[in-house]
Amino acid sequence: MEESELEKYRAAGKIACEVREWSRSLVKPNARMLDVAESIESKILEKKAGLAFPATVCVNDVTAHYTPKYNDEAVLRNGDVVSIDLGVHIDGFIADTAYTMDLGGRHARMLEVNEQALGKIVGMIKPGVSVKELGSTLYNMVTKAGFKPIENLTGHEVKQYDLHAGISIPNIPVPYDWKLKEDMVLAIEPFITDGYGRVVESKHASIYSLLDKKPVRMPEARMLLKEVEDRGKLPFTDRWYAKKISPVKLPLAVQELQARKVIRTYPTLHEKEKGVVSHFEHTVIVTKDGNELIT
Ligand code: MN
Ligand code: MN
Repeated sequence: MEESELEKYRAAGKIACEVREWSRSLVKPNARMLDVAESIESKILEKKAGLAFPATVCVNDVTAHYTPKYNDEAVLRNGDVVSIDLGVHIDGFIADTAYTMDLGGRHARMLEVNEQALGKIVGMIKPGVSVKELGSTLYNMVTKAGFKPIENLTGHEVKQYDLHAGISIPNIPVPYDWKLKEDMVLAIEPFITDGYGRVVESKHASIYSLLDKKPVRMPEARMLLKEVEDRGKLPFTDRWYAKKISPVKLPLAVQELQARKVIRTYPTLHEKEKGVVSHFEHTVIVTKDGNELIT
């Protein structure tokens, strides 16, 4: 990897780590989820970095892809298990990190197992290791402790302006046998649960990404497209544009872009049997004989 690229990954990772640690004090009973997400995003921007994706705030069985709408009034409650996922980029070089907090103390063991499992996998990352081995190790560790990994969510490679690029890092045993290579940048993210171990899509969605720039009719749809086009494929949320585009027209603009397949939609994912989910994530760079954790 070129030195300039490496420096940008490191800088993005440092900011992601700082904002993650700073954000822990925001996650408490009665905090508005919208305030948590917006505070995290403002902090990243304050540090002169870009948002690799909208900050997500996932509670209990909600597993991924939930970011509040601009008028979301939901608050965190005592007893909630809250996962925060945030992404920072510098010139498209991405650091992706997540953590979970237990506001009731009833799921401490699950969070502990999840964090240890992430640490174990990160410790194994080096050139030549197969993703099959990583998936099996994680699965064995988590199931032995009495929990289940989410089988249909994986870690992933990141590339410039591309959040989910290249190979996947499974959290279960898999038939494929891809090997890690030097200079791969990997987001390692086991999700674990006391439920079934699988996520399903809900009807709610607030995260999208640009698929294919095409002409659109509605003026607000055109405005939205113009706002998001320089993000490339990086995800965005309609909430970011609710001050520029009338909030009444915004959902219609999103609908038109969806219908014309200009954007793709990431529906909110929740645990199939409403199990409580925990999630920890770090981004690492595969080095010659191991890895460098950047978050
Ligand atoms: Mn993430
Ligand atoms: Mn990720």
